[in-house]
Amino acid sequence: MLSPPELAREVVRRLDALHGRPVWRQRMPPLEELVACILSQHTSDSNSWRAYQRLRERFPSWQAVMDAPTEEVEEAIRPGGLASSKAPRIQAVLRAIAEHNGGALSLDFLQEMDTDSARRYLLGLPGVGPKTAAIVLCFSLGRPVIPVDTHVFRVSWRLGFFDRKVGEAKAHDLLQQIVPKEDIYPFHVHLIRHGRQVCKAQRPRCNQCPLADLCAYRQRTIDAPALAVPEQFAK
Ligand code: SF4
Repeated sequence: MLSPPELAREVVRRLDALHGRPVWRQRMPPLEELVACILSQHTSDSNSWRAYQRLRERFPSWQAVMDAPTEEVEEAIRPGGLASSKAPRIQAVLRAIAEHNGGALSLDFLQEMDTDSARRYLLGLPGVGPKTAAIVLCFSLGRPVIPVDTHVFRVSWRLGFFDRKVGEAKAHDLLQQIVPKEDIYPFHVHLIRHGRQVCKAQRPRCNQCPLADLCAYRQRTIDAPALAVPEQFAK
């Protein structure tokens, strides 16, 4: 029986072997990542990206977004849904950053902060919760912080890292302690892909899963003999 950190290592090792090791690259600067993340809430990736692009096209700068009548921001981001709540939130976040940062609309100063301080700062912004903070820290700043989205949560509890009743917020804290630092980014990227392609919410494809012999859910729910480790994953 593997310990949770050993299980995390083995999951990453197998998915690295299958898909290649994910290499971190900055997706966007931190302020852009934060705004994109706010726009991504409760909508599809394609709709939130359209909303983000429209926002950037309609306004020449973050200053212009901050100073615009809220209805104009709302109109620009309408394809992303919940525009009437997201527009004032984006403007409130921009105002808070400008106030903290001597008027400058940038979060580049987070690069100079240690991870805990950067996380605390982000959590202090209006409407920014642990998941949004983790996304900015992980994807924009390259810090070893796990954003727990629906795929990461589902695959993790099925594999047996924690009970699903703990919820996403607590799951973040648990995974943060379990997954070795150097594997955090690959673990996150792999579990999202695995959740989308194999460990689907409704019908997990356990028969095609390279993690099946490790998986607590599989062992509990399938009345089958113990699965052999696929040859390509044997140590
Ligand atoms: S064995 Fe099934 S439930 Fe477990 S990780 Fe694979 S697809 Fe998901």
